[in-house]
Amino acid sequence: MTGLPTRLLMGSGPSTVPDRVLTAMAQPTLGHLDPAFLALAEDANALLRSAFRTANPTTFSVSGTGSAGMETMIANFLEPGDRLVVGVCGLFGERIVDAAQRLGVCVSRVDAPWGEPVDYARLEPLVGAGTRALAVVHGETSTGVAQPLEGLAELAHDHDALFMVDCVTSLGGHPLEIDDAGVDVAFSATQKCLNCPPGLAPMTLSDRALERLAARRTRVASWCFDLPAILEYWDSRTRVYHHTPPINSIYALHEALMLVLETGLETRWREHAAASAALLVGLEPLGARGLVRAEHRLWPLTTVVPPPEVDEAAIRHELLERHGMEIAGGLGALAGRAWRIGTMGVNASLKSVTAVVEAIATALGESSSAVADACESALETWSATIRAADPHPAGQGAP
Ligand SMILES: *Cc1c(COP(=O)(O)O)cnc(C)c1O
Repeated sequence: MTGLPTRLLMGSGPSTVPDRVLTAMAQPTLGHLDPAFLALAEDANALLRSAFRTANPTTFSVSGTGSAGMETMIANFLEPGDRLVVGVCGLFGERIVDAAQRLGVCVSRVDAPWGEPVDYARLEPLVGAGTRALAVVHGETSTGVAQPLEGLAELAHDHDALFMVDCVTSLGGHPLEIDDAGVDVAFSATQKCLNCPPGLAPMTLSDRALERLAARRTRVASWCFDLPAILEYWDSRTRVYHHTPPINSIYALHEALMLVLETGLETRWREHAAASAALLVGLEPLGARGLVRAEHRLWPLTTVVPPPEVDEAAIRHELLERHGMEIAGGLGALAGRAWRIGTMGVNASLKSVTAVVEAIATALGESSSAVADACESALETWSATIRAADPHPAGQGAP
């Protein structure tokens, strides 16, 4: 096949896929019960445990994109009539509410203004006797907010509720420690900070989550995402066929996780912090500003409010057509009012950050010296953040 352009993918996902991952994906397809495939898949699950920072034996990938992970979480760990509390601070929190309501779950929600995380003090009174689960989005890609997880697991567990987290945009790019944070059910996706093509939803389940699954009063309403059946395939003692997993996508995930762990998870987090900081410092002299306060900024995805007179869609169009570079526009309340710039995985690099700063400055009609100054400021901030002892802003990331 020919004729497709090469793009630098710096939107909200998918992100740029490295050649090593594409090459891994192009290896010969094996059968889903072939011992050679199963060994590789087990290896991928072990690498996922490292990336999630968990010892959960049940760590695997759901077949389908991040949304399949969300559907699996809701359909298996809640039953019709169960009470779920959701912290909503953007579109992806809304989706958890929507998916749960469709399955007959009674949802109580706490909303934060777009651009801010959900306040612990507002969630606390809603979680009580009868609450079956508490769910939040760790990396809210629609706004660029990182939701602090501190205290939420204790709050849920004190009331015998599960703590469920959407880690789609944080896994591999933002400090996340599943076991330390007490998360029972987490799902992610391959096409954000892991730099794989879309198609798998990495998932990890605590013992508490598995006990809940075993104690269900009703059958799981979804055939496709029926975890008790799916886990019989992933369990090495049973290996019962449920559906054919996307074999070549698992090759890609394995290679992508090797890349993450070769660099080191903490180095990757630091690179994402540096990229987000450098991007903002480069764009601020052009009249753009960050939407989210520094301590709540999601490093892999930075929301930028362009200067008021600028047609944000025209600039995005120019970036794509003239520079082969994709950035995302605002969603929902931010439509037409923001750019969402992803510096995910390999694009959490000085090279990608200066490329996007340069392209935006040029598209805004800046002089060549102003373009050079913007790139120079980005470089200085990048270097300072990479060297800093601890890039964590206060109160952010894992407890
Ligand atoms: C991208 C995204 C999803 C949905 O993932 P898909 O792979 O598009 O189905 C869910 N949650 C968050 C936070 C996301 O960024």
